Amino acid sequence: VTGPEPLPPAPDVEVIGLDADDTLWHNESFYADAGATFAEIIAPWIPDGEDVASRHYETERRNLELFGYGAKGFTLSMIETAIELSGGRVSSAAIGELLALGKRMLAHPVDLLDGVREAVERLAEHHRLVVVTKGDLFHQEQKFAASGLDALVDRVEVVSEKDVRTYRSVIGRVGVDPSRFLMVGNSVRSDVLPPIEAGGHAAHVPYEITWVHEHVDDAPVAFPVLPSLSAFADWITTR
Ligand SMILES: [Mg+2]
Repeated sequence: VTGPEPLPPAPDVEVIGLDADDTLWHNESFYADAGATFAEIIAPWIPDGEDVASRHYETERRNLELFGYGAKGFTLSMIETAIELSGGRVSSAAIGELLALGKRMLAHPVDLLDGVREAVERLAEHHRLVVVTKGDLFHQEQKFAASGLDALVDRVEVVSEKDVRTYRSVIGRVGVDPSRFLMVGNSVRSDVLPPIEAGGHAAHVPYEITWVHEHVDDAPVAFPVLPSLSAFADWITTR
């Protein structure tokens, strides 16, 4: 049902919601790199054959309610996983390296995906734009300020979870009927299914990597899939 063809006609919407991480700028690739570095740093204390990435994800998932999404929770969960998997033997020097790794993630420059700036400029000509992103408030605001897109976007909503209730309140705050709202993003779980359930529209623009937490096996509804934000802008502006 989620196949790329045929593309339906674009709905007539007034407000476009844009996901940020892995839709406007690269994100998951940094996390994947950091995860590989994490495994290297703690390797001396870890039994052979241990799946560090899976254990780290389990810790992250367990901590989501306490830490929320983002690089800080990722870092604390690396430290917790290192202590657990090493039976408490991991060195404080290695913990220091993990903290430094986390700080590098927070300080990483914003790297827009190809064609995003031009696509957002075209979208802004005919639509009000709202960025809807989950994660750490301070870090997401910093990234958005560094993106150079602020003049094109009406508002930024940093939310703790992207569920139906969140989209209902975002749509309420931007002041449109849900049928006049369309969300575009790289996560079927966070950017596509809940806005549709809230009465709006959605389009999926996949990224090269999907965090396991965002993975959906069987989507219950059909939705348009586009290869890039530029292709999305073509679709929505030539209706
Ligand atoms: Mg995303």
